[in-house]
Amino acid sequence: MKKVDFLIVGAGLFGSVFAHEAISRGKSCLIVEKRNHVGGNVYTDQIEGIHVHTYGPHIFHTSNSRVWEFMNRFATFSRFTLNTLANYKGEIYNLPFNMNTFNRMWGVITPDEALRKIEEQRESHKTDTPKNLEEQAINLVGTDIYEKLIKGYTEKQWGRPCKVLPAFIIKRLPVRFTYDNNYFNDPYQGIPVGGYTHIIKKLLSGVQFMLNTDYLMDKERFDSIAEKVIYTGPIDAYFEYRFGELEYRSIRLETQTLNCTNYQGNAVINYTDRETPYTRIIEHKHFEPGTQSKTVISREYPAEWKKGDEPFYPVNDERNQALYKKYAALARAETNVIFGGRLGEFKYYDMDKVVESALVIAEKVLV
Ligand code: FAD
Ligand code: UDP
Repeated sequence: MKKVDFLIVGAGLFGSVFAHEAISRGKSCLIVEKRNHVGGNVYTDQIEGIHVHTYGPHIFHTSNSRVWEFMNRFATFSRFTLNTLANYKGEIYNLPFNMNTFNRMWGVITPDEALRKIEEQRESHKTDTPKNLEEQAINLVGTDIYEKLIKGYTEKQWGRPCKVLPAFIIKRLPVRFTYDNNYFNDPYQGIPVGGYTHIIKKLLSGVQFMLNTDYLMDKERFDSIAEKVIYTGPIDAYFEYRFGELEYRSIRLETQTLNCTNYQGNAVINYTDRETPYTRIIEHKHFEPGTQSKTVISREYPAEWKKGDEPFYPVNDERNQALYKKYAALARAETNVIFGGRLGEFKYYDMDKVVESALVIAEKVLV
């Protein structure tokens, strides 16, 4: 194999953005990807003319104008605002938590009435520094919403009680005292026309890559051809699980093509009760409304993760954060390797943060 400036492990968003920046600055790169396609978890497939989000629903949203402008060089984004619905035992609520949710839950009409209701419910649970997800959730929205819209969903999603999960997870969702169902607060939001795979292919234009290739199976040989390695796989796997395994949460998507034009009337509906085995149903065509005669839906089942499974969500609880710190110290001591992305940094990163971080690292490294 020919010598390259950068060997990039993983053709996900991080690896692809970095590769694009490197090639644009005249560096040579080789990407190795163990899956049979590029794009990592943002990969989209085509079924019946519909872009299917193979690894779960992906909505691009950001507050960073630089990231937004960067992404718009590789795709046109359609105007799309995520308005997720929650189905709790047949009752439909708007998410994130806003005046529509409070009105449906309690019949309140004004922000003052909603605030009073929440105050009343959190009174006996109030704490200045919520230590876990349960305390944080009740502090934010009171006990009724916690019981109906948060507890069941979260415990299914993470396979752990809310009392042992970190508080920051629930703070991902806005709480608003306006009638606004936008799932995100970011000023820029959209779905790329042509799907995410199209963006990745554009990013990788001119970059050599090898699919179905696991870097760790042939590490020495790959290291020998590269000046530097950009590693976006799981950090604990890189160090052969020396201190033990970091935990992830996995999901299984059951995808079906249906002979109807509109199955559920919305892109995402969450099932927030504990009993329904899946967390949500995604109807992919509603991300990019079209005139297809069929529809494709995916039921998302949370799954326990074990070594060898696809890692989806890093579990950023105390145990795992302490373990990660040990791996991060080893990573800092590696002179020729840069660890990046969701798995390399064991971080609950959204796409925009991954792009931002790849751009920042590229600027530092590509002198
Ligand atoms: P990945 O996409 O995981 O890419 C890493 C790549 O490295 C993979 O392709 C993997 O196969 C490869 N790899 C690993 N080990 C090796 C090895 N040893 N050899 C070769 N290749 C290897 N973000 C948003 O902004 N909006 C959303 O709506 C959103 N929804 C999401 C929904 C779900 C269900 C999930 C799981 C995530 C969601 N995200 C969302 C987050 C988004 O998916 C990530 O931020 C992004 O995909 C991370 O990119 P990455 O390159 O860091 O990692
Ligand atoms: N969540 C919830 N009920 C919902 C949706 C989300 O309790 O109907 C909680 C859950 O703990 C989840 C967290 O809010 O992990 C963050 O939700 P988000 O939609 O940001 O999760 P993502 O799937 O994007 O990681």
